[in-house]
Amino acid sequence: MAKRILIVEDEEKLVANLADKLRAEGYDVFTALDGERGWELARQERYDLIVLDIMLPGLDGLSLCRMIRNDSETADVPIIMLTARGMEADKIVGLESGADDYIVKPFGLGEFLARVRVQMRRPSPDRIAKSSELSLGDLRLDFSGRRVYKGETELKLSHREFDLLSIFMRNRGAVLSRHWLIANVWGEDFLIGEKDKRSERTVDVHVRWLREKIEENPSSPRRISTVRGVGYRFEG
Ligand code: CA
Repeated sequence: MAKRILIVEDEEKLVANLADKLRAEGYDVFTALDGERGWELARQERYDLIVLDIMLPGLDGLSLCRMIRNDSETADVPIIMLTARGMEADKIVGLESGADDYIVKPFGLGEFLARVRVQMRRPSPDRIAKSSELSLGDLRLDFSGRRVYKGETELKLSHREFDLLSIFMRNRGAVLSRHWLIANVWGEDFLIGEKDKRSERTVDVHVRWLREKIEENPSSPRRISTVRGVGYRFEG
């Protein structure tokens, strides 16, 4: 069955372009030209992905994103935000709105499709919960035994490093903000203030340790890349 994508964007020409391109790739595409209509459609049917513009007349994209995340029917749908240049990336991705990724306008259709495919590849939370192992490339995680293997070799990871690596692997290709990582690996209690630099540094330090264990060359990492001003992305 074709995967279903909802686009919420008020620039009609852009909507038409994106919809054409996605349909040519075999997706079922639905569109809304304002936030209220987007919310209506999002609640009526299930989608495999929602593409959401931030600047919308009436109900704006960030508010709509939060509404989608806070509704149990729609909470786990992947969301890609479209943003104008100059918006603070950490406001878009992660804790504040709950988007999975963002693309800065103007963007090429090739880049857009690549980001869409990344979200489509993500295993559903149900499937993850049921599996006791996760493999990506030569990395293999055994959740029940909390063990990590690189090829045939077992890696010695601390408790936190294991949690951090498993959350990276489960969200491969998505931009993960430092705040989101803190909330999901260390827990909300660890977040003292929204701009708490100390807890952000903790994330950076753990990522550095993790890179030393899983990267071929930790000083030019290929698996965990840094997304400037936001956080990290696990490439595979
Ligand atoms: Ca717009």
